[in-house]
Amino acid sequence: MALLETRSLTAFYGDFQALFGVDMALAEGQTVAIIGANGAGKTTLMRSIAGVLKNAADQIRFDGRPVGDLAAPDVLALGVAMVPEGRKLFPSLSVEENLLIGRYGRAIDGFWSLDAIYEMFPILKERRHNPGTALSGGQQQMVAIGRALMSNPRVLLCDELSLGLAPVVIKDIYAAFPKIRGSGASIVIVEQDIGQALKVADHVYCMMEGRITLSGKPSDISRDQIHAAYFGAH
Ligand code: ATP
Repeated sequence: MALLETRSLTAFYGDFQALFGVDMALAEGQTVAIIGANGAGKTTLMRSIAGVLKNAADQIRFDGRPVGDLAAPDVLALGVAMVPEGRKLFPSLSVEENLLIGRYGRAIDGFWSLDAIYEMFPILKERRHNPGTALSGGQQQMVAIGRALMSNPRVLLCDELSLGLAPVVIKDIYAAFPKIRGSGASIVIVEQDIGQALKVADHVYCMMEGRITLSGKPSDISRDQIHAAYFGAH
């Protein structure tokens, strides 16, 4: 049984339909990547799973129970934490305070603690008293990842981790993934950097115009298939 799945998931912004029956599944311990062009619906899918957008209860199942109609704090309390697009740190708080915010919604003891985050990202320990916004983009992304991990989530949702970051910084961020997987978390990443997505994921879904157009293991799908799923077959 999948730990997390969506079944014929639909999503709307007012009258505008952004998702048209999305089926995806994440098995315990797996990393799934969602790729697709701008506007394909990736962020909408993540926000639906995280409870930021409400859906029909049965359209999203977590650990066997319907959760599609739950609000974000309730989804977080169950163990689904999100690293949002754009990081969304609290500018007036220090790095350490931003990390501790992650404990508010779900204070479950487990692998992740301040010490564990600082061991994974040592630069954050050096900067722990600095305001979050005094950091580089990559360091801010590390804080956003650390903040989500502080809740010891069962599922970590990462939206566009590499957005606006230099390739060398993206590499540093993704270097943390084996450790995050090792902690037992299952992971969903939304990623525009296809190469990066194929490297870390056990399973890839490609979206176009609110639908899944390709799904498979990275080793089973070709560049041509991805190209067609991304831009449509012409
Ligand atoms: P991006 O890479 O640009 O973030 P995406 O694949 O994450 O793209 P979404 O942000 O999920 O795509 O957007 C899917 C569709 O929903 C797009 O057509 C977008 O314009 C629309 N949309 C997104 N957010 C809103 C909103 N708040 N109100 C109205 N329409 C929206």
